[in-house]
Amino acid sequence: MRASITVDLAAFSANLAAIRRRIAPAAHMLVVKDDAYGHGLAPLVRRAHRDGISWFGAFDVPTGLAVRELAGEHARVFVWLVAGPAEAREAVEAGLDIGVGDEELLADVAAVASPSTPARVHLKIDTGLRRNGIPADRWAAAIERAATLSERGMLRVEGVWSHIAEASDAEDDRARVRYEHALSVARGAGLRPLVRHLSASAAGFARPEFRYDLARIGAFAYGIRSAGGPTEDALGLRPIATVTAPVIEVHGDDVRVGLGGMDGLPSALGGRMSVGTPAGPRRLVRIAPDRSVVEGWHGARVGDVVRILGRGAPHSATDVAERIDTIGEEIALRIFPGLPREYR
Ligand SMILES: *Cc1c(COP(=O)(O)O)cnc(C)c1O
Repeated sequence: MRASITVDLAAFSANLAAIRRRIAPAAHMLVVKDDAYGHGLAPLVRRAHRDGISWFGAFDVPTGLAVRELAGEHARVFVWLVAGPAEAREAVEAGLDIGVGDEELLADVAAVASPSTPARVHLKIDTGLRRNGIPADRWAAAIERAATLSERGMLRVEGVWSHIAEASDAEDDRARVRYEHALSVARGAGLRPLVRHLSASAAGFARPEFRYDLARIGAFAYGIRSAGGPTEDALGLRPIATVTAPVIEVHGDDVRVGLGGMDGLPSALGGRMSVGTPAGPRRLVRIAPDRSVVEGWHGARVGDVVRILGRGAPHSATDVAERIDTIGEEIALRIFPGLPREYR
C-alpha cells in the first residue's frame, strides 16, 4: 500500500475559468512544462482544450509535439527551448510557435523554413534577467534580420515577449520599460500585429498592465500559489492535486504511513507540517526513506487514509514549501511524478 495522487479535473476547469475572468481581455496561455507541473500532460491538455484554451506553453519541442497531437492542428503551441537544427525543423513542420531568444536560433529556424512552411516566431528581448533573450544592444539588428526574413516569406513574426522575475514590483517595472521599448522598435520595423506576452501567474493576476495580449500561466492553473503571496482563497483558486497515503503500521502512539523521503517528501518537513487524518489534523513527526511517522489517534488502523497535501489536508504544496524556503512547484515536482495518479 503506497501513496497516490488524485487530480480533480473539475477543480482544474474552475481554476481555468477563474483565470479567464481575471485576465480578460488578455488570453491565457496554459503552461504545461514538466509534465504539467507533475500532474500529467495528456489529461490536462485534453481538458483545457475542451474548456476553450487555445494557447499552450510547452517549453521544449518534444512536449510541444505531444501537445500538438493532443490539442489538434488549431491549437497554438509555444516552445522556447529548441535544441539545435533538427528540433528547429520539427518545430517548424509542426507549426509550433517558437520563442526565439538568440540570433543563432533565428538562423536555425530560418534555415529550415520556406514560404510554403513559414516559421512562427516570437522574438524575446532580454529585459534584465539575463536568462536567455536577445540583449538590448542586439535587438535592432535582430529585428531587422527578422523583418527581412519575414518579407521573403520565410517566417512570420507573431509576437514579442519576455520573462520577468515576478519577485519585486520595482524590478518588474524596469523590465516592462525595456519591453515597451523593444516593442516600439519592432513596430517601427513594420512588424505587426504582434502578440505581446510578458507575465506569468503572479504578475498576470496582480498587475493588469503586465497582461498585454496573453499571460503565460502555469502554477495558478494547477492551484499552486506563489510562496509569500496571496492565499489560494484570495486568488479564487484551488489546488487540483490531493496526495494521500495509507496507514501501513500502527505502533503504540505512532502511526506510519506509506509516503517517505524516497517518494520526494523532503525530510526537512518532519516536525514542520500536519496531515489530515480521520480524527482531524495530526503532526507529521518524522520522515524516513520509505515511510513517515504521524502522531497517533484513537482507533487508528492499517488502511486508514491520511491526507498529505491538497483537499482535506491542512496544507497546500506552497504552505509546506514556505516552511523549508522553497516554492510549491518544487514540492509538486519532487513528489507528484513518482506517485500513481488518478483523475476524476
Ligand atoms: C514556467 C514559465 C511560465 C509560467 O510560470 P508560472 O509562475 O508557473 O505561471 C511562464 N513563462 C515562462 C517563460 C516560464 O518558463
